Amino acid sequence: MKSLKFILFNTLTFIVLLLIASRFIQVPKKQTDVSSKIYETQISLTQNYQKCGHIVTDNKSQRVSYSSEDELLRRFEDYTITSSNSEKIVLTKNIKGYCPSHFIAVLNNNKITVTSLFDAKTVAVIKTFGLSLSEHEKKLLSEGLTIDSEEALSSFIEDFTS
Ligand SMILES: [Zn+2]
Repeated sequence: MKSLKFILFNTLTFIVLLLIASRFIQVPKKQTDVSSKIYETQISLTQNYQKCGHIVTDNKSQRVSYSSEDELLRRFEDYTITSSNSEKIVLTKNIKGYCPSHFIAVLNNNKITVTSLFDAKTVAVIKTFGLSLSEHEKKLLSEGLTIDSEEALSSFIEDFTS
């Protein structure tokens, strides 16, 4: 008789504990918010330089997650979507000036100063003492000679320094 009472007590205790525990177990709620859908895609950033007409694409494309095109455009300020498919989105920014491949060489006070047309930084200063510049070269360089690639810049500097 005593053991039956004991079993009954234990069973009741167990049920009470189970009821208490169930209050702390959370059943995951079903996701019903449609606007929280996340897309994932490869994006490629390009810059359209309007002065020279060159379109420069960033070397590495990146993978991004986004919830809407608006959200993506907020993240890449000044860019617009110029092409988009299931695999890739191309974002383009219009830039008024020249791309980084353009330079101008100007002869002044016995030195040639080469300046980047992209960021106006001086990339080289070549002293002309001892150089035999032709009248034609002098004229061209005094007016400002444009150099339109990194390779052309290297050979220009080489021509006047070696
Ligand atoms: Zn350019």
